[in-house]
Amino acid sequence: LASREVKEESTVIKIKDVAIGAKELSIIAGPCAVESRDQLMEAAYAVRRAGAKLLRGGAFKPRTSPYSFQGMEEEGLKLLAEASELTGLVTVSEVVDEESLELAQKYIDILQIGTRNMQNFRLLKAAGKSGKPVLLKRGLSATVEEWLMAAEYIIAEGNPNVILCERGIRTYEPYTRNTLDLSAVPLVKGLSHLPIIVDPSHATGKRDLVLPMAMAAVAAGADGLLIEMHPDPARALCDGPQSLSPGEFARLMERLKPLAAAV
Ligand code: PEP
Ligand code: MN
Repeated sequence: LASREVKEESTVIKIKDVAIGAKELSIIAGPCAVESRDQLMEAAYAVRRAGAKLLRGGAFKPRTSPYSFQGMEEEGLKLLAEASELTGLVTVSEVVDEESLELAQKYIDILQIGTRNMQNFRLLKAAGKSGKPVLLKRGLSATVEEWLMAAEYIIAEGNPNVILCERGIRTYEPYTRNTLDLSAVPLVKGLSHLPIIVDPSHATGKRDLVLPMAMAAVAAGADGLLIEMHPDPARALCDGPQSLSPGEFARLMERLKPLAAAV
């Protein structure tokens, strides 16, 4: 069902004033985690000011260490709903199990399934039963085939609105957090009709690499980007080193304009 052979024309996912997979780039930005009302509202207004239409913020954080900040959970989801109400932005947040998915679908527009849960098949099926679009990140060491099969699980349950997200894969290179597999963009575009976006923040783990890799992703044909942006990256509770400041994010948006028009 995810295959281009089954459906030739590209899927476009419409939510409010956003059309993911259409000509206009879909830029999702915001903090790794929702940390407080002030932090999220500041981030939301910075996203809108820069011209992006989608706001991200994790409420359930799948952290490597159990002692790291785990997220604000339902409180965080409520803040995302409030931010959306105030700014008109479309919201994206990660779900980590069936319980968080149940909660999240009450408050947000797009359910994110993270890299660590790409093959959590029960979660994929639950997301397939939900009426919400799903942002499906590529697994840490997933092949393109495995990733598309994960999308298949969602679509097979009756939900055709899947957005793929390349966020870097595990390799032997320690200088970057992951290795961005940009060839996956045109490759997946050939194999599937689903929209595909790129997350240069988690792919590199380094703020300075976000802009060049964002530009490369757009040149490669990505339908959008997922960018971590924090009002005060030095104080972020999660993923500060890869987060852009609002000013850096606004500059990135400016740099993307002529490029997006050219591809
Ligand atoms: C995130 O988007 O904050 C996140 C945890 O991403 P990933 O699942 O790609 O690591
Ligand atoms: Mn993050």
